[in-house]
Amino acid sequence: MLNPQDRCQYCFGEKNFRPHLKICQKCLKSEPLFHRLAAVFEYAGPAATLVKHLKYANQSYLAEGMGAFLAYQFYQLKWPVPDLIIPVPLSLTHHFSRGYNQAELIAMALGKIIGSPVKQVLKRKSGDFSQTALDRSQRERLEGSAFFVKKNAAIQDRTILVIDDVLTTGTTLKRCAEVLWEEAPKSLYGLTFCRATE
Ligand SMILES: [Zn+2]
Repeated sequence: MLNPQDRCQYCFGEKNFRPHLKICQKCLKSEPLFHRLAAVFEYAGPAATLVKHLKYANQSYLAEGMGAFLAYQFYQLKWPVPDLIIPVPLSLTHHFSRGYNQAELIAMALGKIIGSPVKQVLKRKSGDFSQTALDRSQRERLEGSAFFVKKNAAIQDRTILVIDDVLTTGTTLKRCAEVLWEEAPKSLYGLTFCRATE
């Protein structure tokens, strides 16, 4: 499991040459979109296998156990209990082929443990397609306007925790944060099961 002490509190990246600081060089220079961002595991070994099985092998029952790891890390981070947990939405094409959103499943498992409601207030704009074949810049351009917040989301002045299975470039979570801030929440936190190093 990844130790939050060794990581930047804003992007969960390694702090490199100034380990006594709580945030990394990159975040010192830019304004973070999340109050805190963290992951449970590196995207490797058994943790990566779990994600792949949840995603591609139709083993939705795995989400329960993964939610427990998220909860463990959540308590270790000592973050405030969120008023609302919001999973990153799946693209429509994925949702139809798989029948479930893996981020929503692990969010619900986490919500049950820490006692917070889970609500899907984010939506992906249609016309989205699988992004695995795209390179980083193509993906970032595509994600530029990929999300919107549903009407009556009621997130104003509330503490929000956004959940996804894997944090890769951070672009997806950033885009979610950008549209969520338009609704004036009190604070935004982000937690993912894995963090892939670029
Ligand atoms: Zn950072």
